[in-house]
Amino acid sequence: MKREIIDEKKLLSILENTSKPDKVQIDEILSKALELNGIELEETATLLNVDEPEQLEKIFHTAYKVKEEIYGRRLVLFAPLYTSNYCANNCLYCGFRADNKEITRHALTIEQIKEETLGILEQGHKRILMLMGENHKQSSLDKFIEAIEAVYSVRDSKGSSIRRINVEIAPLSAEEFQRFSLVPIGTYTVFQETYHREIYQKMHPSGKKADYEWRLYVMDRALANGMHDVGIGVLFGLFDYRFEVLSLIEHSRYLDKYFGVGPHTISIPRIKPAKNAPVSNNIPYPVSDLELKKVVAALRLSVPYTGMILSTREPAQLRSELFDLGISQISAGSRTVPGGYKQAFSASSEYEEGQFVLNDCRSSGEVIADVIRHGYIPSFCTACYRSGRVGEDFMDQAKPGLIKLYCQPNGLTTLKEYLVDYADEETRKIGEELIEREILQIPDEHVRQLTRDYLHRIEQGERDLFF
Ligand code: SAM
Ligand code: SF4
Repeated sequence: MKREIIDEKKLLSILENTSKPDKVQIDEILSKALELNGIELEETATLLNVDEPEQLEKIFHTAYKVKEEIYGRRLVLFAPLYTSNYCANNCLYCGFRADNKEITRHALTIEQIKEETLGILEQGHKRILMLMGENHKQSSLDKFIEAIEAVYSVRDSKGSSIRRINVEIAPLSAEEFQRFSLVPIGTYTVFQETYHREIYQKMHPSGKKADYEWRLYVMDRALANGMHDVGIGVLFGLFDYRFEVLSLIEHSRYLDKYFGVGPHTISIPRIKPAKNAPVSNNIPYPVSDLELKKVVAALRLSVPYTGMILSTREPAQLRSELFDLGISQISAGSRTVPGGYKQAFSASSEYEEGQFVLNDCRSSGEVIADVIRHGYIPSFCTACYRSGRVGEDFMDQAKPGLIKLYCQPNGLTTLKEYLVDYADEETRKIGEELIEREILQIPDEHVRQLTRDYLHRIEQGERDLFF
């Protein structure tokens, strides 16, 4: 018999039985959260009930402190690469759904994938998230594996290549995971979309994705069959956001309990408009900007060691605010149309031809400059995965806060590479100033000295120096 991951009745009853807390209760929960061991589900639900501005500020500030303590001031950057928009499923919110007959379908050839990779590399990226629709004829796992090899093989004019590929594709079988675990990828991600079974069924009327349990147990199959790092998420707007937050926490703790490793990342996308996707234009449970801020803060306090990913679905200003509340990874300069990096697609073509509309349409260069101005280190680091700090080993190091010791200097060395190879003059200036400030914050004198040495060597032309 399958182990239970989500006890829907229990979660709904927690939500029903938690009321608005008083100041004393909030302070108690927040001081517990500062111990970095997470908080109880009831406590998370209690914090999600707060809407008094002064108390919310306290929650946000605590989330900020937890994030600083664990991750320091770095934000990891990546770009998505869509290899195919063929899809046999019919998710009511998605522009790639089979019933959308007005979209032009593409499955990129190996040559096109290489061109796209070049487009991404020339923005300075070192990490890619590869995605596709679910269609076994047009975009099989074998073709996808070939595409991964092709991405790693590309070098740009600076001699740089992609150093880490994360993957977000439909749930695989145990046998497929055994095969896939031999392919050098970082994190394997699948969003449950909604953990509420009945709503899930309504949103996914046909195709393989209609099977709630096949999707829910995907990470059990992944971790039992050789995968090291997994990512989870929900699509906010399908059901009560508070239920989804509690479910994400339950799923995380379940994976930690049974596989010794929680999810590497949690993603928090909200539904955006998409063509011929009825639910995307009539969202059943809209989540406001303030509610999204509560989601990020509540997750940061509840699962402090789990990375949190924010995409370009959200507008620039809100993205900046969410950095402070717990986001640790962001995409930049994204395109959701397969082939979108080579062709100059406009924002409206994302609606006509893409998976959904993007709200942060700035170039990677603009996003990076903004991150620097915000006082964060834009990091292109891929060191953990390449040094074998993955899965349980990563979590063991993340828990006592050691990751900060690697993340911060690696953030600085990879930013330096970016500044030397890709940045405009203004970004180089503010980036160098940031490096000078941040290097002084490295607590260990030996690491600080070695970082200075690495920075100098990068200036002299060496690349890919990391801790
Ligand atoms: N097709 C695979 C699947 O569904 O698992 C791979 C991931 S799909 C390309 C990426 C994610 O985009 C989906 O899991 C879904 O959460 C999200 N998505 C789909 N339609 C969206 C929309 N209208 N707005 C925002 N996100 C959307
Ligand atoms: Fe296909 Fe994924 Fe879009 Fe669903 S969300 S229609 S599975 S691409």
